[in-house]
Amino acid sequence: MSISGSCFCGAIKYRIDGELRDGRSCHCSDCRKAFSAQASAYALIEPKDFAWVTGEALLSRYESKKTYEGLLFCSICGSTLCGTYKGKVNGVTLGCVDGDPDISIGMHIFVGSKASWETMPDGVVQYTEGPPPKNS
Ligand SMILES: [Zn+2]
Ligand SMILES: [Zn+2]
Repeated sequence: MSISGSCFCGAIKYRIDGELRDGRSCHCSDCRKAFSAQASAYALIEPKDFAWVTGEALLSRYESKKTYEGLLFCSICGSTLCGTYKGKVNGVTLGCVDGDPDISIGMHIFVGSKASWETMPDGVVQYTEGPPPKNS
């Protein structure tokens, strides 16, 4: 499966030759700022599956000591495209993915610190803080 993504102005495009996994939305105050929204909408990828198609030179990078190691965004339009770990892209923002990437947001995390103005939809999986540790 090949998934493509792009920023708001279209100057930067990427391709993922693989699958998205662990779709999640984080409602913490850091994610609200980093994603300019009520929460992040984010999925993980295998770093080896990721490639820039156009516009890599236009990326800006923000290193955070908190939630993310690094965030990559378009220096023209400001779309946040990717997160990095150990210098490699290991996740993408779902808002910049084009088309149907065949993934759903499986959990909402840090809902305990969501914005006062946000209303959570009924029926979603939500955690007050981070997700419980995996059993495997
Ligand atoms: Zn852009
Ligand atoms: Zn967060």
